[in-house]
Amino acid sequence: MNERETVRPKRKAKFSEVFWRHEAQRKTYMRQAIALSIKSVDEGGGPFGAVVVDLNTGEVIGRGKNRVTLYHDPSAHGEIEAIRDACKNTERNDLVNCALYTSAEPCPGCLTESLFNAGIKRIYYGNSVANASAIGFADDKNWALIGTTAKKMLKQANGSLRQLLRGEAQIAFEDWKLKLDKEEYYKS
Ligand SMILES: [Zn+2]
Repeated sequence: MNERETVRPKRKAKFSEVFWRHEAQRKTYMRQAIALSIKSVDEGGGPFGAVVVDLNTGEVIGRGKNRVTLYHDPSAHGEIEAIRDACKNTERNDLVNCALYTSAEPCPGCLTESLFNAGIKRIYYGNSVANASAIGFADDKNWALIGTTAKKMLKQANGSLRQLLRGEAQIAFEDWKLKLDKEEYYKS
């Protein structure tokens, strides 16, 4: 007589299971954002990269690199490019239940765009605003203008903004600082 095969019933993973799995992988996601920031400097873009992760599946659904100088578009920040890519790939108009991993702390524009138009509530960043200012980016000035308001809005939305892997995120900034043939970001 054949032994009865034991077949475990298949079930869909619960959101909480996927969510905690995602939490365990957050360094991996951040490293993907950092890798994009390093690649961006090589390609002539700004030293910033970002990925969007779907918290329901743990899948990276969007990738972005800073293209400001390449596209001559001041809105082409890594975070915005990642949001555009994620929405295009999934044919969605918002990114609720998604997390954003960005190699540098978002500017007030990207923060509000992510939170309020895309619906993202968890944002992880590598380099800080101070690190970006140290290599010539105007993030500190912009934050001084509207940053406190944006952070208050983030708190009200029950969102989180956390720093992760700053040391590794510095690589693209160092590359940018040393790059001799870069197109300057601000010309006036
Ligand atoms: Zn930005």
